[in-house]
Amino acid sequence: MAESIRAQLESDGVALLVGTAIDFAGGIHCKGVPIRRLPAFQETGMGASPSWNVFCADNGIAFTRSIGAVGDLRLRLDTARVRKVDDGLAWGPASFHEQDGALSPLCPRGRLTAVVDSLTEHGLSPLMGTELEFVLTTRDGGRLPKPGWTAYGMGAVSDRRGFLVDLTATLEATGLGPEQIHAEYGEDQFEVSLAPAQPVEMADACVLTRILIGIVAARHGMAVSFSPLPWAGGAGNGAHLHLSLSRNNAPLFSGGRGPHGITVEGGSAIGGILAGLDGFLGIYAGSVISAARLQPGQWSGAAACWGLENREAALRFVAATTGNPHGANVELKVVDPSANIYLAAAALLGSALNGIEEELSLPVEVPGNPAEAADWPAAAVNADQATVLGRLERSELAASILGPEIVEGVVAVRRHEAGKFAGKAPAEIAQALRFAWSA
Ligand code: GLU
Ligand code: MG
Repeated sequence: MAESIRAQLESDGVALLVGTAIDFAGGIHCKGVPIRRLPAFQETGMGASPSWNVFCADNGIAFTRSIGAVGDLRLRLDTARVRKVDDGLAWGPASFHEQDGALSPLCPRGRLTAVVDSLTEHGLSPLMGTELEFVLTTRDGGRLPKPGWTAYGMGAVSDRRGFLVDLTATLEATGLGPEQIHAEYGEDQFEVSLAPAQPVEMADACVLTRILIGIVAARHGMAVSFSPLPWAGGAGNGAHLHLSLSRNNAPLFSGGRGPHGITVEGGSAIGGILAGLDGFLGIYAGSVISAARLQPGQWSGAAACWGLENREAALRFVAATTGNPHGANVELKVVDPSANIYLAAAALLGSALNGIEEELSLPVEVPGNPAEAADWPAAAVNADQATVLGRLERSELAASILGPEIVEGVVAVRRHEAGKFAGKAPAEIAQALRFAWSA
């Protein structure tokens, strides 16, 4: 298969093939080969130091007990996912393997694959979708000049139609099939949402979409920030994850006897996701700038609860209706683009499965704004980075779902960031990290 894909890409004019891997801080890295080396990229892989996993948002390296300057991993291309992305350039996702060929315990993509396999063993089929929010800037990272901004506005689309039309055509041509493209609430903020897919496919598509958004923005003389908070005081960028689950083709979030048709197992999945929230927040939104986004009133889900169409709840429930052809699903809103999407998806799926295995019950629904409820602020998500990292470090669930090496590595990179930016004002941090998650 590799040979025929190589031949096809070569005849399509591809010269350079890149394979990407995401570090624990959410940065996108790649190795490139001339297209004739595609089979070698798949079979033997290309060398990458284990430290690739612990590169930090500021380009520091956070070594751990299991990740030092010595050793080597092989980045192996998943040829089935390779696509031509631009004149002469092709892309594919890659996974970290040991030199003897075994999958590395440090590989986020490998972890997600393993978690999906364990859901399959339990007879569960997951589908996931994601939303990519981003802010356009000038090439040198400044604000774009404009007379004004209307949230979700037509004016923003008219202003940036060259970029948006090119982006839509590019995403369609690459087979990514965006569901929606629109101006968001914050100034110069836009969103692309992707259709539900198998979890690993969803994460791969998210990486490629980020790359393409960057490429197309550059074609139109702009840059793109995927920072959780590109400008202090402005709107944050989310990276919400949608999840639906089914067993023998029967959905878990509809057709049941619980509220909004939630089944008993669906309720347990929701219970598991919320029970895992404290331990996994360091995976979902653990960067040094993440807490600044996770505030009430920002629709970032800063309350540890669930509710039907509740945009202030960490978990928004979306019911099966005529207006929602994809069927019932839950949307985890706390996730931001500094998260490693493979790890965030693995954490979400793993905690849902844990809830089902433990037969947790569906927590009480919060129907209104949680910040106006009687138990506020007890229900507020505590996003303080030191607290979040301590909880991740101590979480037995995180160690069992992600493996101790990954948990140790994530905590190390985030603590490095914390040390680097200690005592700095949000505006300074926002500026320093504005393009840390761009590709
Ligand atoms: N920008 C918000 C966030 O940071 C989300 C807005 C929305 O609901 O789409 O998550
Ligand atoms: Mg949005």
